[in-house]
Amino acid sequence: MTDAVDRLNDVRARIAAAAREAGRPAGDVTLVAVSKTFEAEAIRPVIDAGQRVFGENRIQEAQRKWPALKAAHPDLVLHLIGPLQSNKAADAVALFDVIETVDRDKIAAALAAEMAKQDRRPRLSMQVNTGMEPQKAGIAPAEAAGFLARCRDTHGLAIEGLMCIPPIDENPGPHFALLHKLAGELGLTGLSMGMSGDYETAIAFGATAVRVGSAIFGSRG
Ligand SMILES: *Cc1c(COP(=O)(O)O)cnc(C)c1O
Repeated sequence: MTDAVDRLNDVRARIAAAAREAGRPAGDVTLVAVSKTFEAEAIRPVIDAGQRVFGENRIQEAQRKWPALKAAHPDLVLHLIGPLQSNKAADAVALFDVIETVDRDKIAAALAAEMAKQDRRPRLSMQVNTGMEPQKAGIAPAEAAGFLARCRDTHGLAIEGLMCIPPIDENPGPHFALLHKLAGELGLTGLSMGMSGDYETAIAFGATAVRVGSAIFGSRG
């Protein structure tokens, strides 16, 4: 076994334990293994250990790594977890199975057009900027309801969940609680929150997907 596979098994066990502690079945929480910066040789053992859901934050990097891996393993599910520019919407729709970072009308319109053109329907989540950080992507919490309605009514897009990246220097708990509350108000069930340092906390706050990179693949140097 490689180190990454040992760490993967440890993360899986911790997810199951955190879910149990929260009174939820372990199957409630999807582990998205974040493989950004790692090449296919580092990813393959993790696939061979049964992991099927992966996340990447850069489209060009993902295009270099994932077509061959997906061809070899048709059941892989690839999440886009990084910011999306509208001129990359075609590439994103072609490669990704889940796009977690829908956060403005221009992107929603570009995705809708590409989904129709390519006849591909990646699942979609909305990124929420829970910390209202100016440099960070995501819609402001107060604008989430309006944007969700425009996604549905103007763009014809079904958004199934919310995603957030709490400010790096703050306790993530209140941000996870805010996202959970917002999802309830909006009638959405998917909650992508929690990374290597705080995924167990996120599960306690209702995460249905955790995005874990360095705790599986090691530090990104
Ligand atoms: C890199 C990244 C992660 C994983 O971060 P780790 O701390 O390595 O687990 C999760 N979510 C997003 C959006 C990322 O860019």
